[in-house]
Amino acid sequence: MKTNLTVRICPCCGSPRRFFEELGMEMKKRGLAGEDKVFSLDAKQGIMMDDSKKRIIPVGITIPGFDIKSDICAECGCMYATELHMIEGKTIAAPLDLQKGAPNTKNN
Ligand SMILES: [Zn+2]
Repeated sequence: MKTNLTVRICPCCGSPRRFFEELGMEMKKRGLAGEDKVFSLDAKQGIMMDDSKKRIIPVGITIPGFDIKSDICAECGCMYATELHMIEGKTIAAPLDLQKGAPNTKNN
């Protein structure tokens, strides 16, 4: 079963008020942020990867990942996840480190 959770009220006090969400509404009201901008304490997306498997997992395969957002209750200060989703993400090639040069360019 995959986690797909949206939390609409504070789990501590039950308030629907969120600090960053309200800050975002004020920014939009003043024309300082686009209407589609979503404000939160933190927003992260990624895939989970075991470091010991990084070198053997091929680029382009789909593996489990996460999409999470959090905010702070504007009534009691409780920090909590507002969005918690298990997603599928694709592995991508790591960018080359240009300082070190591309692999296989020395002494070939
Ligand atoms: Zn609260």
